[in-house]
Amino acid sequence: MITSKLPNVGITIFTQMSQLAASSGALNLSQGFPDFDAPQALCDAVGRHIANGHNQYSPMTGLPALRQQVAAKIARSYGVSVNADTEVTITPGATQAIFCAIQAVIHSGDEVIVFDPAYDSYEPSVALAGGRCVHVPLGGKDFAIDFQKLGEALSPRTRMIILNSPHNPSGALISRAELDQLAALIRDRDIYVISDEVYEHLVFDGVAHASVLAHEELYRRAFVVSSFGKTYHVTGWKTGYVVAPPALTEELRKVHQYVSFCGVTPLQYALADFMAEHPEHVEELPGFYQAKRDLFCDLLAPSRFSFTKVTGTYFQLLDYSQIRPDLNDVEMARWMTREHGVAAIPISVFYQNPLQEQRLVRLCFAKREETLRQAAEKLCAI
Ligand code: PMP
Ligand code: GLN
Repeated sequence: MITSKLPNVGITIFTQMSQLAASSGALNLSQGFPDFDAPQALCDAVGRHIANGHNQYSPMTGLPALRQQVAAKIARSYGVSVNADTEVTITPGATQAIFCAIQAVIHSGDEVIVFDPAYDSYEPSVALAGGRCVHVPLGGKDFAIDFQKLGEALSPRTRMIILNSPHNPSGALISRAELDQLAALIRDRDIYVISDEVYEHLVFDGVAHASVLAHEELYRRAFVVSSFGKTYHVTGWKTGYVVAPPALTEELRKVHQYVSFCGVTPLQYALADFMAEHPEHVEELPGFYQAKRDLFCDLLAPSRFSFTKVTGTYFQLLDYSQIRPDLNDVEMARWMTREHGVAAIPISVFYQNPLQEQRLVRLCFAKREETLRQAAEKLCAI
């Protein structure tokens, strides 16, 4: 008999829906990943570095050149200076960064606040550390933090709050004023923050991303996590990073060095080169994805789905209550995939207590124009 450490965990919704999309021959707008290529120069650089013998372990903390590029990008984007040696750690993906940050500071019996809906990796990572997630629902239609409910959820055992902005699956942003409010709320408490900012450069309509990196007070207690996968269209490279003050970084690295020791060497070389040669990539990203969002939303205007354009991420929520109110969102996502050839993600799976009346599915618009046109045509026919 195996006594499972994660008795409530099954196969993730991303695997389930991508498999169903493949077996149904549906367009896969479920799991979040681009169906277009990464920049050619970035891909070429990987081959070059492999040919040049960069195939052995990189430093545990990450390739110095890449950590420096991350620090330089942070300075350009947020006007703050972080130390590339003592505050930046390269990890095999943001998922691993989040896992290590949680293992580093969460003790048995600690409580961790997550906002519902929340990305699916947080809770199992907390459970493996012996902690317990306390779920605080985000408010209403705009998925904003409800500070009243957050305040009520705090207890002497609260050791961490996990933020995610831009937010998966809703696309909602946390504003600078909300960060101020959060800082005031936890000012005299011993609480860490993970700020999952993997979609930091996918923010639209001229809005500036309010990074915890630029919030001096919150940053002192924070692990800020990002992913090269999202920013450089290479989700399969599983390369990310975490930025934290030196004392927190030291604890994080104690875990990271035994979970994976280091990231993949030639990928780090390639990313460092590309970031040095193409700093404009990051600046062009909001416009690039905003055009995809606008195209997809314009094409869906005649459909029976209702929606408000997202302000961040590469996901668009669609309300289907005018179409099949009789189906819950898991049934709807499967029906759309099997019967209408477009795979989506139901968002109830990201909740502890799904809202019974909610009729929302998430679609990924990180796709070629042709894919978006084909998907929209199918969606408009429903
Ligand atoms: N956090 C969020 C909110 C995400 O959507 C993702 C994407 N899968 C991750 C973390 C993980 O990123 P990575 O693929 O770099 O592990
Ligand atoms: N972050 C991706 C999404 O939300 C999925 C990542 C995964 O499959 N684990 O779609």
